[in-house]
Amino acid sequence: MQIPGHIDPVTTGTVPLRGGNRTDLVGLTRDGIRAALEEAGLDAKAAKLRSKQIWHWIYHRGVTDFDAMTDIAKTMRPWLTERFIVGRPTVVTAQVSNDGTRKWLLAAADGQEYEMVFIPDADRGTLCVSSQVGCTLNCRFCHTGTMRLVRNLTAGEIVGQVLLARDALGEWPKGTMASAADADDEDDEAGHYTADGRMLTNIVMMGMGEPLYNFDEVKGALKIVMDGDGLALSKRRITLSTSGVVPMMARAGEEIGVNLAVSLHAVSKEIRDEIVPLNRKYGIEELLQACADYPGANNARRITFEYVMLKDKNDSDADARELVRLIKQYRLPAKVNLIPFNPWPGAIYECSSPERVRAFSNIIFEHGISAPIRTPRGRDIMAACGQLKSAATKPSRAELDRIAEEKQAALG
Ligand code: SAH
Ligand code: SF4
Repeated sequence: MQIPGHIDPVTTGTVPLRGGNRTDLVGLTRDGIRAALEEAGLDAKAAKLRSKQIWHWIYHRGVTDFDAMTDIAKTMRPWLTERFIVGRPTVVTAQVSNDGTRKWLLAAADGQEYEMVFIPDADRGTLCVSSQVGCTLNCRFCHTGTMRLVRNLTAGEIVGQVLLARDALGEWPKGTMASAADADDEDDEAGHYTADGRMLTNIVMMGMGEPLYNFDEVKGALKIVMDGDGLALSKRRITLSTSGVVPMMARAGEEIGVNLAVSLHAVSKEIRDEIVPLNRKYGIEELLQACADYPGANNARRITFEYVMLKDKNDSDADARELVRLIKQYRLPAKVNLIPFNPWPGAIYECSSPERVRAFSNIIFEHGISAPIRTPRGRDIMAACGQLKSAATKPSRAELDRIAEEKQAALG
């Protein structure tokens, strides 16, 4: 498949120390940039004006060099360069799948590594963004779950993934500042992906980590991504996936307002306890009630239930019928996304047969609920759902069990 877009950024393999003592402006709110400028010595009025200009350059134009910010006085630019940077994650490796999916292994300034995936489709391009290095949870079918949580990503590191993807796809508006307002029209060369000609149209918080265990940073990043004078992605084009952190779901709806996806994966306590151990803390009933209460969900904006198809584990006709019953019982505006299990080294599950997945899907459709089967993307480069994992260490089975026990103990 021919992949539209420009050339990936250069792979470096090492992590240069970014910025030194300088402050990275990426990830700060507009007010945060203003405050940083004031702290560095600008008066309030100048800081307000400059922060507005800098914001526009960073998030609308993708500029990383203060020298290129042409509406900022020439004398001011070195002053900014001495004190601030507009950073990007370091690209450790960049891979392209034979289906066009791209995966990047990125490194933060402290060397911590995390992955990001871009999935081009005929009518959209989806960036799958990570929220943590590793994960505290331990879903049994998920490769990321075999890692310890190393740390939360910052808002800057989360939004940095989107900025880097725009760099890699070559889709920042070109031209001068004066033409910025209509720059989208100039940038129409990528063809059929979206009305404004861009490939990156959607964001899913479905990379490494549990976004609702890093709520503040995820919220900060998504607010930046949605800001109209910048990346300007609509909340309707952003989906946050949670494994079921019930106490944070209402806040996600109220304070972030993006689409919700819930990793349900099983319809009985016994099976969900086993494969999504968080279920022992927040059970299915509680989770579905939180979905019913999710602010902003309606028939036009449905909640997506993700359901990984595991052979002889959660894939019977009875499971499908129970799923329908639960969705109806809680009157959920729902669609179901059936994900064929993506294997990884050491995984203890197998994917259900295509016939089984089809039969499961049919039962749900017959009851008037949409249940498409997700086509696995990027499996050859381990970029598909649940295959992401970073860090050089490969734990043994015994170690995996120990990590699982530790995580379970932490859940209480
Ligand atoms: N932590 C969040 C978001 C990241 S995972 C969550 O769990 O929802 C994104 C989706 O991929 C989740 O639905 C997850 O359960 C699913 N997934 C994990 N491992 C998988 C695998 N090996 N095959 C298919 N889907 C998987
Ligand atoms: Fe964490 Fe999501 Fe993987 Fe579960 S499926 S271990 S919550 S990343």
